[in-house]
Amino acid sequence: MMHRAAWLLLLIALTGVEARAGWHEDTQHIMGTRVQAEIWHEDSAEAAALLHAVMLEMKRIEQAFSPYIEASELSRINRDAPLGWVDASDEMLDLLAKSRRMAEMTDGAFDITYASIGRFYDYRQGKRPDDALIEETLEAIDYDHVEINWQTRQVRFRHPAVYIDLGGIAKGHAVDRCIELLADEGIQQASVSAGGDSRILGDRRGEPWKIGIANPREKDQVTALLPLLDTAVSTSGDYERYFETDGVRYHHILDPTTGESASASMSVTILGPEATLTDALSTSVFVMGPDKGMTLIDELDGVDAIIIDAEGRMRYSADLEELRP
Ligand code: ADP
Ligand code: MG
Repeated sequence: MMHRAAWLLLLIALTGVEARAGWHEDTQHIMGTRVQAEIWHEDSAEAAALLHAVMLEMKRIEQAFSPYIEASELSRINRDAPLGWVDASDEMLDLLAKSRRMAEMTDGAFDITYASIGRFYDYRQGKRPDDALIEETLEAIDYDHVEINWQTRQVRFRHPAVYIDLGGIAKGHAVDRCIELLADEGIQQASVSAGGDSRILGDRRGEPWKIGIANPREKDQVTALLPLLDTAVSTSGDYERYFETDGVRYHHILDPTTGESASASMSVTILGPEATLTDALSTSVFVMGPDKGMTLIDELDGVDAIIIDAEGRMRYSADLEELRP
């Protein structure tokens, strides 16, 4: 009897939830990271369908842009573009063009050809390229080596050792695409994140969303909690993918001028209108270092930064500095 009553209660609870408006959430592991989407919706079934569409979009982007998937468009370009012109999708050309613009804006700190050397690091295995390999491959790092023909919509590399990786911009792009998808479906309150890249739509039922910045040396602790509305936010840290040997931290953000990990910051958080921009900027400002990086951020309209420098000091862009209590 008891048993049956419990089932009944559960059924009532389930049907109750079906009809009610509320927050709906899904979390999956895609693009080598944690992908999360949360939306406010009147209808559970429609919310589930939208969350499914978001995850499918993330997986589609991973299939096209992952350097670890041999059949991806990116892998095909890396194989064939050193030999001559290869076809590229509109989405690929768009990201390549945006990457180039970011490279120009950041004085080459953002450079997708960093991977010409970056490909030889293996952070899980604790492997890095030796000095000789770095030295002979350094000339392959130059965003100018990636040439686009807009008439034929093709791309080629001007140097045989060039290898590109969109890891510094693709997750932001994916987040933007998913937010656009949700907005097109009439969603007004949502958040989508892929690893350190997030974007929020609207508010959280009359309250701002709160996004935490991790303590770079105690990953599970939050150093700052930011109340935000309608914003993209990206964090790049030296604690995401790294190994240490002889007291040196080798991590996944490389200075294109040296082929070695950038060391002037522990973490960089960028706030701005779109995640494609904040993603690329967080990586760039990390490479540029707090002084040069903050100068760039203060020149950009609608973009802010919180940098934790190599000494662990927090630095805020001019607009945020004014808002501090
Ligand atoms: P993640 O969310 O992966 O930690 P970040 O925004 O911190 O991403 O960017 C790091 C990623 O950017 C690296 O994993 C690599 O794929 C790519 N990357 C590293 N150095 C550079 C660089 N100088 N320019 C462009 N992309 C880079
Ligand atoms: Mg980034």
